[in-house]
Amino acid sequence: MNITIIGAGAMGSLFGALLTESGEKVCLLDIWKEHVNAINKNGLGIELDGKTRFVKIKAEFSEKTVKKSDLVIIFVKSNQTPEAAETANKFIGNKTLVLTLQNGMGNADVMTQIIDPGRVVAGTTSHGATMIGPGHIRHAGKGPTVIGMWSGGKNKGLADIVDTFNKAGIETRAVEDVKPVVWKKLIINVGINSITALTGIKNGGILDLESTKALVREAVKEAVAVAAAQGIMLPEDMADQVFKVAGATGTNRSSMGQDIDHKRQTEIGAINGAIVSLAEQSGCAMVPVNKTLTALVETYQSHFQ
Ligand code: NAD
Repeated sequence: MNITIIGAGAMGSLFGALLTESGEKVCLLDIWKEHVNAINKNGLGIELDGKTRFVKIKAEFSEKTVKKSDLVIIFVKSNQTPEAAETANKFIGNKTLVLTLQNGMGNADVMTQIIDPGRVVAGTTSHGATMIGPGHIRHAGKGPTVIGMWSGGKNKGLADIVDTFNKAGIETRAVEDVKPVVWKKLIINVGINSITALTGIKNGGILDLESTKALVREAVKEAVAVAAAQGIMLPEDMADQVFKVAGATGTNRSSMGQDIDHKRQTEIGAINGAIVSLAEQSGCAMVPVNKTLTALVETYQSHFQ
């Protein structure tokens, strides 16, 4: 399969390397020249369990040199999705599908405004990766990947992606209705990310105080109500699921926490911010907790020195 990955940061590089190692023709496309140059010079370094291996992958920073692809994967941060979708459109051939495994809500919807909606595939992945430096990532965790057509239903190309990913050791399955899957991951992020980002704590710290847990429960309750207004019925115990994930990833700093620590813009707009905008769009109940968390993170990130 000819695969182009737009956004070759931690996750794009990881998926690119695993797919290259299993024999797929991968091209990484990123705007970060130092990273692209390092990959082309030395290969991509992947650290796993204390050992680093190098994978030879083609990396580009100019879209002009990238050819039409069978699959395009978008792995930029969610605030870059419109630009990445415009770029993806240039590599589309007859049967091309465009996949997002980004966190947050809104990425696939933005893509369907720019790309033929019948080509947009969305999903979630439990793989984790960290950017260490130019040309060098850490494979931080493994877990299932779930994908589906954003417009629902089946597609022959989807089965090809599942086969290709599984062959590369990326355990993947397809579902006919992927929206609840994306919503469940969103709600985990709604409960953990902004609170850990604002307070400097690791994920497990969410569980230490009853007052923190009460705040999580309120944020999650609002998000579940907004999902219901969108026709997505989620389990009533979503807050408990958030606590379970916070416990299981207790020593991790959330991705939003890491963004704040490194003075990078966060994905707040696609996480708690998405709950606020979807609540406004659907005219459903007020979401004061998500509104406050969003405003606090936005305030923080707009005052980085
Ligand atoms: P990252 O910041 O490491 O990588 C993003 C890359 O996109 C950067 O290298 C950046 O230079 C590049 N980029 C930005 N704009 C671009 C453009 N217009 N064209 C091409 N490249 C562009 O981020 P990440 O950690 O790899 O995360 C990517 C997405 O995956 C996010 O939505 C994140 O929430 C999600 N995710 C991350 C993890 C994880 O463990 N890191 C796990 C699951 C999901």
